[in-house]
Amino acid sequence: MTRLQAATARARRSPVTRSGLLVCAPLRLEARAVRRGLRGSGPEAGQVVTTGYGPRRAGAREAALRQQPFAALAVAGTGGGLAADLRPGDLVVASEVTDGHTVLPCASASLLAGELRRAGLRVRVGRVLTVDHLVRGAERERLAATGVLVADMESAVLARAADGRPLAVVRAVSDTPDRPLVSPGALGGGLAALRSLRAAGPALARWAAAVGDRQVLLAGPRSFCAGVERAIEIVERALDQQGPPVYVRKQIVHNSHVVAGLEERGAIFVDELSEVPDGAPVVFSAHGVSPAVRTEADRRGLTTVDATCPLVAKVHAEARRFASDGYLVALIGHEGHEEVEGTLGEAPDSVALVQTAADVSALQPPDPGKVAYLMQTTLAEDEAADIAEALRERFPAARAPGSDDICYATTNRQRAARAVAADSDLVLVAGSANSSNSVRLVETAQRAGTTAYLIDGPSDIELSWLAGVSTIGLTAGASAPPAVVEDIVTALRGLGTVEVSERVITTENIRFSLPKEVRQS
Ligand code: SF4
Repeated sequence: MTRLQAATARARRSPVTRSGLLVCAPLRLEARAVRRGLRGSGPEAGQVVTTGYGPRRAGAREAALRQQPFAALAVAGTGGGLAADLRPGDLVVASEVTDGHTVLPCASASLLAGELRRAGLRVRVGRVLTVDHLVRGAERERLAATGVLVADMESAVLARAADGRPLAVVRAVSDTPDRPLVSPGALGGGLAALRSLRAAGPALARWAAAVGDRQVLLAGPRSFCAGVERAIEIVERALDQQGPPVYVRKQIVHNSHVVAGLEERGAIFVDELSEVPDGAPVVFSAHGVSPAVRTEADRRGLTTVDATCPLVAKVHAEARRFASDGYLVALIGHEGHEEVEGTLGEAPDSVALVQTAADVSALQPPDPGKVAYLMQTTLAEDEAADIAEALRERFPAARAPGSDDICYATTNRQRAARAVAADSDLVLVAGSANSSNSVRLVETAQRAGTTAYLIDGPSDIELSWLAGVSTIGLTAGASAPPAVVEDIVTALRGLGTVEVSERVITTENIRFSLPKEVRQS
């Protein structure tokens, strides 16, 4: 009986492997490193088989491996780094693996990569190419130019054994363009790669434990609101009309993907106008600015385009109106948020920030009969209602805003999040950590009694969150691009079948017109 036949027989007998992880490692040293790494994750972590060096041996074993009753397949080993910035010991998690003819996607790559990074490892996600010979010199450069990160001699062949089951391919870089296999540093590179393979073991075990078929409930509405779409379009049009660079004061909207995308096109984000060169065009963000900033821009003679959301501008106008009528304005909001700073700046002597119901008792209005209140547009409805109630109790004549300050987009997304939370084991909210309305969505789902997390993208999902979870509610803050939601669903599909349905509580058809400076495309 060969070693593989013995392993297959053991696997068939083992109830653990029947529902678990099978790791294929070409070399004995690689298999031993992964096995040691898995050891700390318990006896059910998975089984490691040595499959032999090169595509011929891998091909000879593939059919038998395919018959094994594993739930998830990982191929793990060392590989030759092609990209110039890779270092020995770096891990490459395959987004897809190819032999040049067939391409096998590894949809959950970003999930596994995130887990490995949280374990402190240097990780890249990208294409892995399986070849039948050692890649050297000019061929290395040529393949790197096609976007391949790592070359090996087995992955694409062994990956076929997954046969539709969840697949991960992890290669630890042993040699690089400047430290090739036959060089004085080769041994050190190999050892660094084996250490990384061992360190990857626990993350592989968690990846396999997260495997399962799931339902995803999409909250509707979710993602971009009219104010965010308008702000992004303003920067894009400014770039088209004036050419890069276009300066933007503060993040145009609070989302890392949006900011990175616009930076690639030539936008430069600054914190203060003092960072903008004389004569350069500058866009004010969707969160608005205080009059002091506008005055400074005028004094500097800067060409400005205002991307302040019209619903934020409405709150600014209310603050000015109440202040000029002699009211003390209690602004319900969060300290330090740019929108709040802008509104406070409209009438600094007449607007007081109120963050909690307890803050209400500290207010000292000159005339208790002349108190008004306004709200940041992205607050949680129930939280703001409690503070407004406390204000009305202490100041029964308090004037409320003409219409709700918490905007339609915030309200709709919170109600939709509540609707999906009711039927989910877990809620994931796509959005950046500095996005107020995204953070409020997490809190809304949590208050509905469901565990909820904020994630900037799939790699932020901790795999332990998914173990035992069969229904995931998914939503996105008003500044998070729809593509991030799609990326999350795609990554979850890499762990098993995903049935997607949508809970739409209302539809939105609001559009805001663009400022005249960018209206001509
Ligand atoms: S969340 Fe509301 S206030 Fe903020 S940009 Fe969107 S529509 Fe405007």
